[in-house]
Amino acid sequence: MTSQTADRVTPRYTREFACDLELGRDTGKVGFVSLGCAKALVDSERILTRLRAEGYEIVPTYDEADLVVVNTCGFLTSAKQESLDAIGNAVAENGRVVVTGCLGVEPERITAAHPEVLAVTGPQQYEQVVSAVREALPLKRDAFTSLVPPQAVQLTPRHYSYLKISEGCNNRCSFCIIPAIRGDLVSRPVDEVLDEAERLVRSGVRELLVVSQDTSAYGVDTRYDARTWHGVEYQTRIQDLCEGLGRLSTDLGAWVRLHYVYPYPHVDRLVPLMAEGKILPYLDIPFQHASPRVLKDMRRPANQEKVLERLARWREICPDIAVRSTFIVGFPGETQEDFAFLLEWLDEAEIERVGCFRYEEVEGAKANALPGAVPAEVKQERYERLMLKQQEISTRALAKRVGRTTRVIVDEVDEEGAIGRTEWDAPQVDGITFLNGETDLKPGDVVPVRIAHSDEYDFWAERLDG
Ligand code: SF4
Repeated sequence: MTSQTADRVTPRYTREFACDLELGRDTGKVGFVSLGCAKALVDSERILTRLRAEGYEIVPTYDEADLVVVNTCGFLTSAKQESLDAIGNAVAENGRVVVTGCLGVEPERITAAHPEVLAVTGPQQYEQVVSAVREALPLKRDAFTSLVPPQAVQLTPRHYSYLKISEGCNNRCSFCIIPAIRGDLVSRPVDEVLDEAERLVRSGVRELLVVSQDTSAYGVDTRYDARTWHGVEYQTRIQDLCEGLGRLSTDLGAWVRLHYVYPYPHVDRLVPLMAEGKILPYLDIPFQHASPRVLKDMRRPANQEKVLERLARWREICPDIAVRSTFIVGFPGETQEDFAFLLEWLDEAEIERVGCFRYEEVEGAKANALPGAVPAEVKQERYERLMLKQQEISTRALAKRVGRTTRVIVDEVDEEGAIGRTEWDAPQVDGITFLNGETDLKPGDVVPVRIAHSDEYDFWAERLDG
């Protein structure tokens, strides 16, 4: 799609799949705009897979499309506006638009702004979206199910893929409305997830990014239902899932990276799997704050845990572990003391990768009623101070890794060399590693390297033999 928002996701998608689809068939042509988080991206992939299974062709521009599906984000107020703008753009450029995703829980808001839309469906309503497309754009032929690639349609590059293990969330963080939009936790059976992971790896995916709203809670809703996969019993719980994924790592060389983990005690049992090389030495833990008072008001899961002690223990078990996190500054009631506590805590925790958000009200969230709103300029000032502090920490933490040997997965190659990521860096959100002069590599290659140099966020490395 040619809109600004769509550019974030679609160019790679269209480059990789549009050519597969030039089959000259008389099918309906669907354009797709995917907004929002990694979980929404997985929803987009599922919808696209179903559309392809029905014989629809996916096209990269509004002009070529007979109809456009917009998968929206409805979390922050700014994301809602971005979604409404994307819908407006699709209506203006194409005219025939089906809306789905998180903002779909507020159909009246969408139709008030854009009465022309053909249908509105909510998050995870895959069948309803496809029905709406079917109704608006009936196909002249039967489905060509054999044309769907075995690993299904991906919006990520071919060498990495998100693996969604559950929907919804049992937590009730005061700033969040995800549980109201997506419901309580529903975990996918462990054998189903492992089957999908194996299919992806066998079709060429080298890195699996495990995502959900709360990865540590995986399986609680199923009471850790036991299933069999390749003759071995696994419970539907995160440790067992990681053991199974570890087999794909050991046998087929897949990288397995965990996102959205909360620091519950049982996470301690995942760290030895990292030390053994079964899953990557990487944990994405959205701490959001460090001040106990703010965490309590945020109603964050595991906010009572002794996180600094836990981080120290994890680093003892797996010295290589890299931790990524996100933080919110300017939450209602956050005082100068709370913020100073956070900065000190960051210094001590020495988290390698950090993202920061200025608190924003979310319609319907409990936090809106909390006293002590922080003025916008204070939020901005705290945001800048935190980012500056993190720059120092990150520079220090990365410099410690100079001289180390590790592996890099290649994301892109141009005439100057290859750009990839170490085991300590996730795609899109973390730093990158430059392999200057390595022009014979290709995306998805995994090569041994020695880290030669670092700056605030990135590495430069030399490729080693092997
Ligand atoms: S853990 Fe908290 S922030 Fe994350 S989805 Fe659940 S309720 Fe929302």
